[in-house]
Amino acid sequence: MIDLNHGSGWLYGAVAPRPPIAEAVSAAIDSALTARNRSERPRSYVSSSGLGRDCLRQIQYDFLGLPKDEGQEFPPKTLRIFEAGHRAEDIVAGWFRIAGFDLRTARADGRQFGFEALGGRFKGHIDGCLVSGPVAMDYPALWENKALGASSWKDVVKRGVSIARPVYAAQIALYQAYLDLPNPALFTALNRDTMEMHSELVPFDAHLAQDMSDRAVAVVRASEAGEWLPRTAAERTAVVCRGGMAAGKWHAPCTWAIRCWGEQP
Ligand code: SF4
Repeated sequence: MIDLNHGSGWLYGAVAPRPPIAEAVSAAIDSALTARNRSERPRSYVSSSGLGRDCLRQIQYDFLGLPKDEGQEFPPKTLRIFEAGHRAEDIVAGWFRIAGFDLRTARADGRQFGFEALGGRFKGHIDGCLVSGPVAMDYPALWENKALGASSWKDVVKRGVSIARPVYAAQIALYQAYLDLPNPALFTALNRDTMEMHSELVPFDAHLAQDMSDRAVAVVRASEAGEWLPRTAAERTAVVCRGGMAAGKWHAPCTWAIRCWGEQP
C-alpha cells in the first residue's frame, strides 16, 4: 500500500526505485544480448524486409553493411522486442495449426522458405504458406505475420497494412512474386500488449513487386559500380532522416544520418 503520510518519502508520479536484483538481472541479460548482436555478421544482401523504406541511400548503407552512427546500435530493449516478435511467429503458427490450417513454415531440413536473386545479393524469407484450412479463401496463400505494439496494431487494424505499414506491403508483394503465390496473402498482426489478432487478405500488387525488385537491382548495381544512390531528403532535419510521422507514414530514425550528411567518413 502506498504510504501518503507526510514524511513517508512517497512522491506522487515518481518512478519507484528498482530493487537491486531487478537491476542486476536486466544488466546481465542486456549485456549478453548486446554482445550477441555485435557478434552477428552484417547482412551481405538486400533484404526484402527493408526494401519498402523511402530512401535508397539508406537501403544501400544497409546492403553494404556500413557501421551505424555512434550510439545508433539497437538498445537491448529493442533487441528483446525483435526476438519476441520473431518467436511470436511460432506461437501464431501453432494457433493456425490447432485451428486446422495446413501451414508450411519450413522445409524438411528446417530451413525457412524463401528466394534468392542477383546471385544471392537479394534475398527474402517468408513466414509461411497456407496450403489449406477451415476458412474460405484462396489457397495456397502466403502468410506473413508481425507482432506489433498496441498503437501500431491499432493503426494497421484501422487503415489496413498497405496504407499503415507500406514497408510490410512491399515485402508481401515481393514474396508473392518470387515464390509464385499470386493469391491474396493472409497478413496477421498480433498485438504484443493484448494478444489480440488482426487478419486481412492482401491482393497481389504486381506493380509494387516490380518496383521493389527494380529497387533491389538499383542498390546492387550502384554498389558494384561504386556509386551512391540519391538521398530521399534534401536536408538532415527531414522526417525520413530524424524519424517520425509524415503524411500518415511512420519513419524510424535513420541510423546512418551522421555518415550520410558528411560528418563521418
Ligand atoms: S539520413 Fe536521410 S537521406 Fe541519408 S540515408 Fe538516412 S534517410 Fe536517407
